[in-house]
Amino acid sequence: MKNITFEVCSLEEEKDNADRAQIETSFFKQHNIRFSASAGNVEEEYLNNQQKYQSFKDNLESRWLVEASDFIERLIKFFHENDNKIFKVKICNYAALGFYDSAKNCVFINLNCAPLDPVRIAKHELIHIMVQPFIDEYKIQHEQKEKIVNALLEVLA
Ligand SMILES: [Zn+2]
Repeated sequence: MKNITFEVCSLEEEKDNADRAQIETSFFKQHNIRFSASAGNVEEEYLNNQQKYQSFKDNLESRWLVEASDFIERLIKFFHENDNKIFKVKICNYAALGFYDSAKNCVFINLNCAPLDPVRIAKHELIHIMVQPFIDEYKIQHEQKEKIVNALLEVLA
């Protein structure tokens, strides 16, 4: 059973991501989070970059199959999560190099993430999804949250 899917963000999602890059600029800078923003016309950039999105997606997906094929299984087991859970990986061109939407079991990987490893970023963001209920419940702050996620990444990756 395939418990992870890879796809390119829709134009609507990219508009949201480009907005996010604008809105969260000061947060990104404050926390030393690398990010990318639109030069102005998201729709035009989206259409012009289709090849780039697609090849990044294909490359990440095939690398995932080779290097991280058992990661989701390990993640599910560690958190006693339902093994039918399906995670989505979406490729974007804006906002942080990696981010997540825990309500949708979805992580976003920015195609501008080099030289950082997109496989590792995806694992990091997937862990974020799993720990988010605890983060919310205990009102854990950003820096502490990242430490928790990175500690789990060392264990699970
Ligand atoms: Zn993080």
